[in-house]
Amino acid sequence: MTFRVITTMELFALNSPSKAIIFKERRLTYFKRTLFGLFLLILLGTLVPEKIQVTVAGAVASDWNQNTFWYEPWGSSGVHKGVDIFGKVGTAVISAVDGFVIYKGHVDKGGNVVAVLGPKWRIHYYAHLKSDSVSTGQFVERREVIGTLGDSGNAQGKPAHVHYSILSLLPHPWLVTTEPQGWKRMFYLDPDAILKR
Ligand SMILES: [Zn+2]
Repeated sequence: MTFRVITTMELFALNSPSKAIIFKERRLTYFKRTLFGLFLLILLGTLVPEKIQVTVAGAVASDWNQNTFWYEPWGSSGVHKGVDIFGKVGTAVISAVDGFVIYKGHVDKGGNVVAVLGPKWRIHYYAHLKSDSVSTGQFVERREVIGTLGDSGNAQGKPAHVHYSILSLLPHPWLVTTEPQGWKRMFYLDPDAILKR
């Protein structure tokens, strides 16, 4: 009778293949479920109805210039990726949509800014605020006051206005044009068209 020490590799060959396959299959199922969950989440986000509100209290369509979206040349940004809604300093700036505040703070060009993630995976961006009255992570309702109208950032000294942009996280490739920075139009939607809908 002969004895032989079994090697690790042999042990692996005897025992592990079935375990390895089960592990692989579990991982695959987990991956598929995660992917499906993500897909469902994105789909649900697009199904939330987008009710929209002009973002300055009391403002009407004549308080912004409908032709300034994608106007160029426009300062250091090159093209203007939003509309400027004018009003008196200190007027309430209200949320255009229901959503979550994903950012608030101070940036060079925008000054005091607030960004709200709303329906359809769209980020609503408000800049040049005098002050803000929200905190990051907070849920805001449409028409809820998020700040006041000002001239912060590179709007300093100009008539008070909110720079309002709508940034879509889901690309709209059919909106791409040959204009300067035209490819970015798949992400920036025209607030004028959306507000007047
Ligand atoms: Zn602007």
